[in-house]
Amino acid sequence: MQLVGEEKLKELEENYKNKSLSYWKDWKWQIKNSITNISTFEKLLNIKFNDEERKKLEEITSTFPLSITPYYLSLIDSEDYKNDPIFLQSFPSINESLVGNHEMADPLHEDKDSPAPGITHRYPDRVLFHISNVCAMYCRHCTRKRKVGDVSSIPNREELKKGIEYIKNTPQIRDVLLSGGDALLLSDENLDWILTEIQKIPHVEVIRIGSRVPVVLPYRITDGLVEVLKKHNPVWVNTHFNHPRELTKSSKEALRKLADGGIPLGNQSVLLAGVNDCPEIIKKLCQQLVKNRVRPYYLYQCDLSEGLAHFRTPVSKGIEIMERMIGHTSGFAIPTYVIDAPGGGGKIRVMPNYLISSAPNKVILRNYEGIITSYKEPDNYKNPDCSKGCEECKLLKNTDESDEYRAVGIEKLLMDSNDTISLIPKNNNRLQRREDNED
Ligand SMILES: *Cc1c(COP(=O)(O)O)cnc(C)c1O
Ligand code: SF4
Repeated sequence: MQLVGEEKLKELEENYKNKSLSYWKDWKWQIKNSITNISTFEKLLNIKFNDEERKKLEEITSTFPLSITPYYLSLIDSEDYKNDPIFLQSFPSINESLVGNHEMADPLHEDKDSPAPGITHRYPDRVLFHISNVCAMYCRHCTRKRKVGDVSSIPNREELKKGIEYIKNTPQIRDVLLSGGDALLLSDENLDWILTEIQKIPHVEVIRIGSRVPVVLPYRITDGLVEVLKKHNPVWVNTHFNHPRELTKSSKEALRKLADGGIPLGNQSVLLAGVNDCPEIIKKLCQQLVKNRVRPYYLYQCDLSEGLAHFRTPVSKGIEIMERMIGHTSGFAIPTYVIDAPGGGGKIRVMPNYLISSAPNKVILRNYEGIITSYKEPDNYKNPDCSKGCEECKLLKNTDESDEYRAVGIEKLLMDSNDTISLIPKNNNRLQRREDNED
């Protein structure tokens, strides 16, 4: 990781005065000039920590590295930085050095569920494939803190090939999630290579990319990158906005490019104390995302990773947020609230309860306004009998695509591929006579 020297610092300072400089929007310039030490950060934002604080912060960043793009740093409100959601997500807190005894380096047991380098295979039909450990910014709340920023363990092509080989040899995998680190920090060529390799595998139906780039480095979404993603359709991109203030002109432009390129977009937020633990903030965020053609996907309860206690909320906070969104705003602006099971059980959906009682043939429900209602179930529903096996079942289990092209009317006579030679009105007298004579 390159430190920002005095010279770079000057350049940066100049830059803050005049953001129209051409290189500001150059994503490689942004990465190269990322802020990676406390004192540069202090200088740029005119903040002063006392010696003790600085020492502690430096200790923390030697374990969990600090790296902020100049773009993301420029969004911090330095007047009130202590409450600023951008600052809180990007700058270490002294509390990160406190490790609770229920906290873990790998709370989701991603390493234990790893059959090949970089692969976490937890669910039957999909895998997580970590293809880098580098991110545009190191989020302080990252669940994968143990890994990110560890440049020494960036997988090389040989290792990536082992992961690809595993996917190739495991026919039940139909969905591959590229994660990291940040997959969109690869060069266009490398990304193209890996997408090509994965797409060659016949049983892979869809590729997903999890990326925070649209939030912390929107300039990375270049026309060239969109072309690469487009080429490998269907590729879904899930991004990670946590606060409405992150939706800037540039990040909206990045989302527009992706959406115009036909890339389906989703968003995964993490519920973070002091950042977005408020129904109004999450609701606004989700409505703004939808306005920018991004579908809110998950709202995560903060994991039990080490040093994240200060970010965690009770689960009831998440339930409260869901309660205040369901029914109150567009259904597709509402994410699913999930807790990723410690120990590797996968994501578990949690919701307020809407089913409040039941009896045979009846359920009692309540709606978002508190109206209590009953729904009468059918009296003579016949459950499909599975005991005889699928061959005996009357349900049409053929799930192949329907043959959609059926010729209609005169079209039948015009098409060489259809062997109809005449269209005859119903009850035609002459043909009726013919039929009668045949009897
Ligand atoms: C989140 C996750 C997935 C994807 O889960 P979906 O619910 O399909 O989005 C797959 N594998 C692992 C290990 C995950 O953590
Ligand atoms: S972008 Fe994702 S993987 Fe990278 S530091 Fe942030 S949360 Fe972690």
